[in-house]
Amino acid sequence: MKVNYDLHTHSTASDGTLAPAELVRQAAHSNIQVLALTDHDTTAGVAEAASAAQYHGIGFVPGVEISATWGSKGIHIVGLGIDPDCAILRQGLESIREYRLWRAREIGRKLDEKGISEAFEGARLLARGGLIARPHFARYLIAQGVASDMRTVFKRYLVRGKPGFVPSRWVTLNEAVTWIKAAGGQAVIAHPARYSLTRTKLRKLLGEFVGAGGEGLEVVSGAHSREETRTMAFHALDFGLSASMGSDYHGPECSWIELGRLPELPAEAVPIWRDWADSSPL
Ligand code: AMP
Ligand code: MN
Ligand code: MN
Ligand code: MN
Repeated sequence: MKVNYDLHTHSTASDGTLAPAELVRQAAHSNIQVLALTDHDTTAGVAEAASAAQYHGIGFVPGVEISATWGSKGIHIVGLGIDPDCAILRQGLESIREYRLWRAREIGRKLDEKGISEAFEGARLLARGGLIARPHFARYLIAQGVASDMRTVFKRYLVRGKPGFVPSRWVTLNEAVTWIKAAGGQAVIAHPARYSLTRTKLRKLLGEFVGAGGEGLEVVSGAHSREETRTMAFHALDFGLSASMGSDYHGPECSWIELGRLPELPAEAVPIWRDWADSSPL
């Protein structure tokens, strides 16, 4: 029987809008049989999600999505099957969150210079104790009537060249992969078609990622077109990378795709779960 995997999702522990247990409940009701929670730079939601998954009788994979910088690009590395108690991983994520807090204050300061006041405090309140990411600023700006929707607010305020953009120095590819492996996980490049890389640059990234010990490429993503999926399946095979699939779900109002609606992996792809033993549905 075909198992329905979603190995890339977010909760309120980072920039998702559903609490971990609610996300798992909705995933179970959307016919997902194995779910990974992969919040940005934190595993704070993993314990709650794991017990909710047990309750709803679906498989659960503890995960994380690490913010890395490669050249001038922000690249996201998903870690699957990580031990959230691993000290190396914990310290690494802690350092990213400290940097995030500094960056959030910078974003607030820059918006303030443009006449938008209290944005740091507004974003902090919307994050409700979780880490602060750009979507929290986006939601604050929308609530202030500065823009009407997420797309517009990102385009006008939060991307390179815009008033609230801070060029970010995250961790290196090597650090992200090393921490994930130290925690017993598999490292996967998230939504590879979303970085606006040329084919040459993408293949350079994949080469370095494999060299660092990376194992997977997110071939199927909520953020990929069919054409992009086919291209990524080809590159994964070429570099000996396993294929992962994930929706990158952030909640009902702000996602690429609804839960449970991902297409299947291309037939030639080698699934990242091929050697998994214990994440199958209970
Ligand atoms: P950060 O990690 O703080 O830089 O925030 C990045 C997050 O913002 C991503 O994980 C997405 O959830 C969201 N995001 C990035 N670009 C856009 C966009 N153009 N529209 C809506 N959300 C976006
Ligand atoms: Mn996000
Ligand atoms: Mn991402
Ligand atoms: Mn994501």
